[in-house]
Amino acid sequence: LIPVKLMITRISLPPEETPRYWHNILPDLPEPLPDPVPELGGEPSRKKVLEMLAGIFTKTGLRQEYSDEPRIRIPEGLWEMFIHVGRPTPLHRAKRLEEHLKTPARIYFKREDTLPTGSFKLNTVLAQLYFAKEEGFTRVVDGTGAGQTGSAVAWAAASLGLRAKIFMVRSSYKQKPLRVTYMKMCGADVTPSPSNETELGRPLFEKDPEDPGSLGIVSCETNEWAAQRREDTVTVQGSIFNFVMTQQTIIGLETKKQLELVEEEPDVMFGCVGAGSNFLGFTLPYISERIKGRSRCRFVAVEPSGVAPEVNGEYRYDLLAPGTTGPLYKMYTLGCDYKIPLLVAEGLRYQGTSPLLSFLRNRGLVDAVAVDESAALNAGKICLMKEGFLPAPEPAYAIKAAVDEALRARDEGREEVIVANISGVGFLDLEGYGRALTPI
Ligand SMILES: *Cc1c(COP(=O)(O)O)cnc(C)c1O
Repeated sequence: LIPVKLMITRISLPPEETPRYWHNILPDLPEPLPDPVPELGGEPSRKKVLEMLAGIFTKTGLRQEYSDEPRIRIPEGLWEMFIHVGRPTPLHRAKRLEEHLKTPARIYFKREDTLPTGSFKLNTVLAQLYFAKEEGFTRVVDGTGAGQTGSAVAWAAASLGLRAKIFMVRSSYKQKPLRVTYMKMCGADVTPSPSNETELGRPLFEKDPEDPGSLGIVSCETNEWAAQRREDTVTVQGSIFNFVMTQQTIIGLETKKQLELVEEEPDVMFGCVGAGSNFLGFTLPYISERIKGRSRCRFVAVEPSGVAPEVNGEYRYDLLAPGTTGPLYKMYTLGCDYKIPLLVAEGLRYQGTSPLLSFLRNRGLVDAVAVDESAALNAGKICLMKEGFLPAPEPAYAIKAAVDEALRARDEGREEVIVANISGVGFLDLEGYGRALTPI
């Protein structure tokens, strides 16, 4: 008889096992995060940042940003929505891929691509919109690059009965018409950025109505638009901030229960990194265990070789986005004038990484590797052929790093448990796969 543990490839949890608390790592950190706005220092600098963000963030988000509660309760109504969208997502044992690689390693994928809007962004977006509604807002505004946050915002707004305004980087707006269609089908108002609807966008738009835009411009337009409509409108944040990382820990908490169910301990965990929210959401519960000496797992952040701040950047104070005037944060950065190459994985085109991930990397709790685009997309293709699902180009980077690890395990004759997070689905990116993987 083959033990069940080795046969089962889909590790599901019943809906009632969906976590009821988020995991907050802040109280477990060996020392506090470096202060934003360093010249003020400590408590005053945090207060200053919270004041700057107060006009555009929900009160709940602000409260969670520097919370020292080890766990934060998920409200019942939100918990029900998580179940409605398919949480807990499955943990998938990639047996066919293991056989293909002839590795003694066991490879597991956490399947955030199964969420209905196509990516893990829905976890925090649902939470943020739920709290926005509870606080009396009737409209949310989001600045989106590739459209993954925008898709989640559009659907969640429709589902909660809120209005959604979405500024989308014009180059993506043109290259991703299907995402625009998706958002509009949900009833969202989608505007290419730079637009003539903000003080900041207007001169750029009037100078060149075809200005391709950027993540910096889109985030400035979003914040300005929200600040002018404080009475009924609030922004949605896709990544970067501590509270977003906390709200994504539902991924790692489920993974932990699922691995425990099959009596596995992870040896190494991989996630792709733009700013760090899917990677940290996936790993933070285990990183806390490691800080407490209860786990020896390694955590590897996977970045595209063309934009790899954790591998090639400096740890210093910088702006969150080029062209913005917000507070300075200490983080790994390539600098705001770094020219980011075009990538099929647009969600990974960020010149820095979040302050929390940067801190963990700097303290040696997180490792980082850089992967080439063609190698990543080929790993995505192998995943499709062997495992039957098509990852988004972003998690294909994590898959490539997991495959390399499994091959090292084979060469060194090591059994080991490798776990990677699949942050999104690739169907809306087929055009990009087709362009990059020539000839298909
Ligand atoms: C947004 C996004 C990312 C990158 O963002 P992180 O905050 O680094 O997780 C990765 N994958 C997908 C599918 C995304 O939508």
